[in-house]
Amino acid sequence: MTKPLQCSKKCKSSTQPGFWFRGLRILFGGVLLGAVVFCGACEKAPVKPVDISANDVCFYCKSPITEVAFAGEFVTKSGFVRKFDDIGCLLADAKKVGKKNIQAFYFIDMVSKKWFPAEEVHFLRSDKIRTPRNGGIIAFQDASKAQQIASRYQAELVQFDDILK
Ligand SMILES: [Zn+2]
Repeated sequence: MTKPLQCSKKCKSSTQPGFWFRGLRILFGGVLLGAVVFCGACEKAPVKPVDISANDVCFYCKSPITEVAFAGEFVTKSGFVRKFDDIGCLLADAKKVGKKNIQAFYFIDMVSKKWFPAEEVHFLRSDKIRTPRNGGIIAFQDASKAQQIASRYQAELVQFDDILK
């Protein structure tokens, strides 16, 4: 019974130089491991869209985002998410930031009200389409649905590369 007691006393002693050395090694090991895990996540884990919260405002025009169906967002290369109330606001801000500094764009599908990456949606553009800031662009995941609505608004069916010009 006396041996374990002695051992724990010895181990707890912080006056030994070995204690600090071990502590530093553990600390450095942890930092290194953390850095590896973090960088691995940067490169491999796909970026995800972030839902609009009740008090979110448009990053560009600062208006509250009340109609989620018209919303869009992008994630910068440094990981910041910018949310917009209108695709027109998103495009204006994206042009300022520069496409090379943005890693992902997401848009709300008018039908499902869910996020989709830019390359999976089709856009309708027309000045007859009323959007919160008069951007006149709405997004659809289903191309046939977009086509159907296009004729109603005399809108043109375009892809993301067309609207980001
Ligand atoms: Zn806006």
